Amino acid sequence: MNQFKIKQLVDQAFAEEKLTKSEITSLLAADLKDLAYLLDKADQKRAEICAEEVHLRAIIEFSSYCKQNCHYCGLRKDNDQIDRYQLKKEEIIKTAVMAAELGYKTVVLQSGEDEYPAAEIAEIIREIKNKTKMAITLSLGERDFAAYKLWREAGADRYLLKHEIADPLLYQKYHPQMSYENRIESLKYLKTIGYQIGSGVIIGLPGQTPEILAEDLLLCQNLELDMIGSGPFIPHQQTPLKNSKQGTVAMTLKFTALSRLLLPLAHIPATTALGTIDVEGRQKALQAGANVVMPNVTDSKYREQYQIYPDKICINEEAGDCRQCIGGIIASLGREVSQDKGHSLRKD
Ligand code: SAH
Repeated sequence: MNQFKIKQLVDQAFAEEKLTKSEITSLLAADLKDLAYLLDKADQKRAEICAEEVHLRAIIEFSSYCKQNCHYCGLRKDNDQIDRYQLKKEEIIKTAVMAAELGYKTVVLQSGEDEYPAAEIAEIIREIKNKTKMAITLSLGERDFAAYKLWREAGADRYLLKHEIADPLLYQKYHPQMSYENRIESLKYLKTIGYQIGSGVIIGLPGQTPEILAEDLLLCQNLELDMIGSGPFIPHQQTPLKNSKQGTVAMTLKFTALSRLLLPLAHIPATTALGTIDVEGRQKALQAGANVVMPNVTDSKYREQYQIYPDKICINEEAGDCRQCIGGIIASLGREVSQDKGHSLRKD
C-alpha cells in the first residue's frame, strides 16, 4: 500500500473511529516500516485521551490449576510436567494488601480455570475491598453466570476475558471442549451486570490472517470494550503448538495502534508477552497507543510455576523491584504513573 493510501485510512480512523474490514485488513497486512504514520497517530490519540498517565495493574497469579486444554497455554490440563499451586485465601489477601502498600490502585486476580469455590472468591473480594481502596479485576476464565453475579455483588469492578481469536473454527480448534459463543456471551453478560470488561487476542496463532485480526478489532468495537489487550503467541514446549512460529512484535504493534484509533477510550496494556519477546517491547507499545502496564506481584516462589508461555520476564523478581523497574521505564518515556484507579473512560 502506498503512503498516500495509508495516510488517508489512518486519518479517517483518527477522525471517525471507523474503518471497514478490508481497510483494517490492508493496514494490518502492510509492512511495519511503512506504518510510522499509523503508530504516530495512535500515540497522538493516546496523548489526547490519556495524557501522559500510565495505569499500573498489579497481577496476582493465584492458581495454576486448569481444567481446560488450550493448545497454546503451558497451564493446560494435560501438561503434567509442571508443579501446580493454589494460593490460600489469606495469602491472596496478604499479597493484595502488599500491592496496595506499593502504591497500586488496581489488583488483578488471575488463574487457570480452577475450581476455586465461588463463595471463597467472593470473600477474597470483600476482604480486599475492606482492607484497601484498590479496584479489583478478575481474570479467572469462564465460570457460571451466577458466579459472575456473586463476585460483582461482592465488589469486583472489572473482568478480563480474552476472546483470543475471532474465528469460530480456529477458536474451536485451539480450545477443545470450549465454546466461542459462551465466551462472547460471558463478556456481554458481564457488561450488563456492571463490570468494566476487557478482552483481546493472541497475536500470531497459526492460521490467523490479517482478515481474522480485522474481525477481532470489529468484534472489540461491537462489544464496546473498556479494555483491549494483545500479546504475541509464544510457543510452549509442553503444548501441541510447540513447533509453531512465534507471533511478531510488528503485528502486535499494528494491532495495538489500530486498537487505539478504533476504540479511542479503551485502556490498552503494553503486555508482558511483548516484553518477553523484545526487551523494548513494552516501551514500543506504550508509544503506539498503549496506556497500561500490568506488573506481577505474585510471590517469586510461585512465578516459575505460572508459565503460560516460556521465559516469562521477571520470574526471579520481588514485587517491589518490579514496581521500581516499571516506574523507571515509564519515566524514561517522559510519562508518569497515574495516581487514580484508572476506571473505564467510556460513558455508557
Ligand atoms: N484462564 C484465564 C486466564 C488465562 S491466562 C482465561 O482463560 O481467561 C491470560 C492470557 O494469557 C490468555 O488469555 C492468553 O491470551 C495468554 N496466553 C496463554 N498462552 C499463551 C502463549 N503461549 N503465548 C502468549 N500468550 C498466551
